[in-house]
Amino acid sequence: AKEVEKKEFQTETQKVLDLMINSIYTNQEIFLRELIANASDAIDKVKFQSLTDVDLLEGDSDFEIWLDIDEENNVFTIKDNGIGMTYDEVIESIGTIAQSGSQKFLHQLQQKQAQEDDALDLIGQFGVGFYSAFMVADKVTLSTKAPREDTAIKWESTGDGTYTIEEVAKDKRGTTIKLHLRDEFVGDEAEIDLTKRQTIEQLVKKHSNYVEYPIKMKFYEDDEDGNVTEEIKTLNSMKPLWVKNKGDIKEEEYNEFYQEAFNDWTEPLEVIHNKVEGLVKYAALLFIPQQAPSNIFSEDFDQGLRLYSKNNFVMDNCSKLLPDYLRFVRGLVDSPDFNLNLSRQVLQDDKQLKVISKTLEKRVLKRLKKILTNDRDKYRKFWSEFGQLIKSGANMTFGQKQDKLVELMIFPSSDCDSEMTTLNEYVNRMKEDQDVIYYVTGEDKMAVENMPQMELLQEKGLEVLYFFDEIDEFVINNLREYDDIEFKSVLRGDLDLDDAEDDVAADQDEVEELLTAIEDNLEGKVSDVRLSRRLKSSAVCLVSGDAGLSMSMEKVLEKMNQ
Ligand code: ADP
Repeated sequence: AKEVEKKEFQTETQKVLDLMINSIYTNQEIFLRELIANASDAIDKVKFQSLTDVDLLEGDSDFEIWLDIDEENNVFTIKDNGIGMTYDEVIESIGTIAQSGSQKFLHQLQQKQAQEDDALDLIGQFGVGFYSAFMVADKVTLSTKAPREDTAIKWESTGDGTYTIEEVAKDKRGTTIKLHLRDEFVGDEAEIDLTKRQTIEQLVKKHSNYVEYPIKMKFYEDDEDGNVTEEIKTLNSMKPLWVKNKGDIKEEEYNEFYQEAFNDWTEPLEVIHNKVEGLVKYAALLFIPQQAPSNIFSEDFDQGLRLYSKNNFVMDNCSKLLPDYLRFVRGLVDSPDFNLNLSRQVLQDDKQLKVISKTLEKRVLKRLKKILTNDRDKYRKFWSEFGQLIKSGANMTFGQKQDKLVELMIFPSSDCDSEMTTLNEYVNRMKEDQDVIYYVTGEDKMAVENMPQMELLQEKGLEVLYFFDEIDEFVINNLREYDDIEFKSVLRGDLDLDDAEDDVAADQDEVEELLTAIEDNLEGKVSDVRLSRRLKSSAVCLVSGDAGLSMSMEKVLEKMNQ
C-alpha cells in the first residue's frame, strides 16, 4: 500500500483555498449543499454504471447520504455510497482545480488581479464545490473507495498549502468527508451552530430538499430516566416531482406539492409542467393559483420562480424568468445549466435564462388561451383574480405579444352580461352595417344600463362592451382598434347612427334659441350644447367631446390628482 505522502496543492488551488478561508463571504452555509450535491452526483454515477454491470454494487444498493455530528469533537460528517474515487482520481479531482467551473473562476480571478471584493463576487458566481468545506472547517479528512478497489484512500488537509494522501485498509464503497469545524461555527454564540442537528436539518430542507436520495441523520432523545432513544430521520422530502414524466403524476400529487411548496391552502387552478431537452435543458413546473394574494400589486410582493439545478435549490423569487404581468404564476425551474452559485447580478444577462424566460411566457399564454377556449367557467375565475394583470400586460407591450394578450381579454357586455365576451366573439356577432366596437365605461351593470346614452343602442340591438375596470379604457385607447375596427365610446360625441332623418319638426329658430339659453345658463360648465338624436326617453344627457377626455378618464385623472 502507498505510504503517507505529503503533496502540495497546485498554486491555483491554493489561491482559491486562501480566498475561501480568509474571505468574509457571508453565505458559508452553502458548503453543505455543495457537498451533498457531490454525494448525489457520485451516487448517480455508480447507479448509472450498475445498469450495465450489476455486480458493481456488491450488495450495497440502498443509495443514501448520511450526515452525522460529533458534538464532543466538533466534527461534522457526510457520507455517501456513491462511486468513490481511486488514488489517482483523488489527486486529480481534489488536489487540482481541473473542473470547468473552477477553472473559469480562476481565469476571471487572474484577470481581476485577485482584488478582494471581486474575488468574493466570484466565489458567489462559481461553485467551487468541495473547497467550500474549508469555509467552515479548519481540517478536512476525506476517505473514499471506488468499486472493486482493494484499498481505500485517505486524504487530509488543513488548507495550508499541502495535503496528505495514503492508502488505508479497505472500507465500503463510497466517500466519507469529515469536517473539523472552525470555532465560529460551534456553540450557542455562533451565527450558525453546525453542531446542532436542527441547524443541519434546516439547511438540508432549504438547499437540498429535493435531492433524490435520502439524506439521513440520527437524532437522540433523553427521556426522564436518562435513557437515550435514537431516531433516524430523513431530512429531505425528495420527490422532485418535476423530473418525473407528466403521465406518471396524479393530479393530487401536483396539488399536494403545490400546497406544501408554496404555502397555499387552496389547490392550484392550473398546473403547467414541461420538460425540455434541447439546446437549453430544463424542467418547469408552474402553477396558477386560485386566488391572488392580497399584496400582489404592492412592492413587497415576492414575485418570481424558484430556481433549482439538478434538484438543488439555487435561489428563490427569481423575477427574471417571467414578465412582470405574469407575476401571479408560482413555480420552479430546474436546469442542469444553472450554476449553483448563480448570483442575481449574473442573472441580469444570462442568455440561457432569457431563452427559458421567453418559452415560459409563451407556454403560460398558450395555456391561458386553451382554458379560455375550452373551459370558460374556469377562465372567468382566473380572469376575476388576474385579469387586471393581463390587461396591464397588454397595455405595456406591442406587436404580436400585445395581440396575444388582447385575445385573452374578456369583458361583460350588453349581450353577454356576466358570461363575458372576447373581442373576437364580439366582432363575430356584429351587425352587418356596424363598423365600430361600442363600449361604455361606468361603475357597474346597473349604472351603465341606466345611462340615457345607451337607449338608442339598446333599441337598435347593438352590443356594447361594459368597461367597469378603470384600466379598460386605457388599454383600448392604446390599441385604438381591434381587427381593424375602431372602438367607440357610447359616452363620446356623436354616434353617427344614421337614422338622422327623425322628425325634428320643431322650428329651427326656436331650437337655436333654446340651446343658446341653456348654454348661457351653464356658462363655463359645458363646452357645447347640442340637439341630440340619440335619446329616446331621457330629456338630456352629458357626453364628452370627440377629441377630449372621456368621462371615465376624467374621473381617473381626477382621482390621481387627489
Ligand atoms: P465539481 O463538483 O464542480 O466537479 P468539486 O470540487 O466539488 O467540483 O469536485 C471535484 C470532483 O471531485 C468531482 O467532479 C468528483 O469527480 C470528485 N468528487 C467530489 N466529491 C465526491 C464524492 N462525494 N464522491 C465521489 N467523487 C467526488
